[in-house]
Amino acid sequence: MRPTIGITPDALTSIRAIITGSDSTLETGGALFGHEHALLVTSASGPGPNAVHQSGYFLRDLEHTQLAADRAHKVDRSQWIGEWHTHPSGPPEPSPLDLNTYVSHLVDPELRFERFIALIGSLNPWPHLSAWVLVHSQDRIELHRAALTLAANDRCTRDEMTPDQDTE
Ligand SMILES: [Zn+2]
Repeated sequence: MRPTIGITPDALTSIRAIITGSDSTLETGGALFGHEHALLVTSASGPGPNAVHQSGYFLRDLEHTQLAADRAHKVDRSQWIGEWHTHPSGPPEPSPLDLNTYVSHLVDPELRFERFIALIGSLNPWPHLSAWVLVHSQDRIELHRAALTLAANDRCTRDEMTPDQDTE
């Protein structure tokens, strides 16, 4: 079954604003915060001033991300649950390098992830965000293409999400 990721309008709006305001030939991105078990993204951070942007590579600003994580946690106990970034020319799916990064988070025992969310923005056709979930079960990790659904800004559980509003 295709998993569904909920995203609040606030989070979606900030991702879109960052992408539209960026150099479209370079990758940009940030971290996703929310609730892992509900697969709900409540906010998204931007790249930060010290991020590395290249045409096929992106590394977010760690300090900037930590501040965003603290803010998100204060609001509604949101946790770091994933990453978003753009592929200016490549396909809207995780590259081998992206997958390596995501898997390294999933197998890190200190992070205790069971699932990790990845959103990839592609500029052609624009706007398009593809959604992915990596699931760590027993000794294997599976990659699932997910559906992306708008959730209300003030709701925190999956049961209360607005159904079937595809944002792709
Ligand atoms: Zn990538």
